Amino acid sequence: MNQIDRFDYVCRAPNEYAANYKQETGGKILGFFCSYTPEELIYAAGILPFRLFGTKGEIRLADAHLQSYCCSLVRGGLEAALNGSLDFLDGAVFPHTCDSIQRLSDIWRLNAGFAHHFDAVLPVKLNTDSARQYMTEVLNGFRQDLEAAFETQISDEAIRAAIRDYNLIREKLETLYGLRSRAPGLFEPSTVYRITAAAMVMERKEFLEQVTEFLDGIERDAAGKKETGRKRIVLSGGICTHPDIYDLLARAGADVVWDDLCTGARWFEGRAAEDAADPVEAVADRYLTRNVCPAKHLDIKARAGELVDTVRRQRADGVIFVLLKFCDPHAFDYPYLKGVLDEAGIPGLLLEIEDQPPPEGQLMTRFETFVDML
Ligand code: SF4
Ligand code: SF4
Repeated sequence: MNQIDRFDYVCRAPNEYAANYKQETGGKILGFFCSYTPEELIYAAGILPFRLFGTKGEIRLADAHLQSYCCSLVRGGLEAALNGSLDFLDGAVFPHTCDSIQRLSDIWRLNAGFAHHFDAVLPVKLNTDSARQYMTEVLNGFRQDLEAAFETQISDEAIRAAIRDYNLIREKLETLYGLRSRAPGLFEPSTVYRITAAAMVMERKEFLEQVTEFLDGIERDAAGKKETGRKRIVLSGGICTHPDIYDLLARAGADVVWDDLCTGARWFEGRAAEDAADPVEAVADRYLTRNVCPAKHLDIKARAGELVDTVRRQRADGVIFVLLKFCDPHAFDYPYLKGVLDEAGIPGLLLEIEDQPPPEGQLMTRFETFVDML
């Protein structure tokens, strides 16, 4: 199986990949929903952090616990936990972010039946003097919880090694994004999406090995490739689990050249210091300086300013907001982001989706209309 086939497989069947991993290695696996999960600490404990993407199947069991106006990530994740699709998990980690995730944590703990459950109540405001100290204390508490639950010790050196591996993964994904931005024609439209999704699921050393080989092959070809001549788009929002969006956009005449998604660039942006005396503080510092999501507060203009900068840096023609229905944090941020884009003369399109994508014809019409307008 070549690297692309491997990434495609993991992206299509993450649960099967994880179940096989567990069967073959006996390794522990912890699920997580949000890019504020301190993965370096989990990984340093010898546990595989596994991103939960909801479900593509029907949601029935979760409806007994959650209102239908919760986002489909939360409802789909609970459904998967209740119907046995995630039986390979040893537990899950819930950082304090939006209301839906917080309520899900309680429901999950009481009903999902996994051996372990962790809450990491991170600060919401990230721009105060006390936020750094508080964030570091919470992360140290999480480290102790992991040690107690799995009867292990997580040394500073193990955390530094985890930081090095994660920084390398971040560097590789940034290189991949940069290549796509310079020459979108190098890849099939959804390739970069699939590789990034695989990075949040695969055993991280295996991912690093595969992505390094893949990039070595690609970078040799990059120089001769031209632009596709299509319009250039930045995606913005929370999670996106629809590779079809990239393919349909290409057919409509536009390439995604960058994103501000928590299953995309926001997952790999920023680096934790590799040589810090206190490696937990280094993990905290990255969260304090990385691009902020709407469930956290850094500065009233931070998100919009960063989005406009990204559009300029990537020479993009427009932004498509990909929001999950009933995702309040992103829905509340949208009018202000759109207003700033309007002032900057950057066209934007709002796309509200669920775990199940809208009918293809409907999406194509919206994409074609938007691309025509650019
Ligand atoms: S939008 Fe923020 S809170 Fe929601 S999943 Fe992404 S990083 Fe976490
Ligand atoms: S931030 Fe939005 S998409 Fe993420 S869990 Fe909360 S409501 Fe759902």
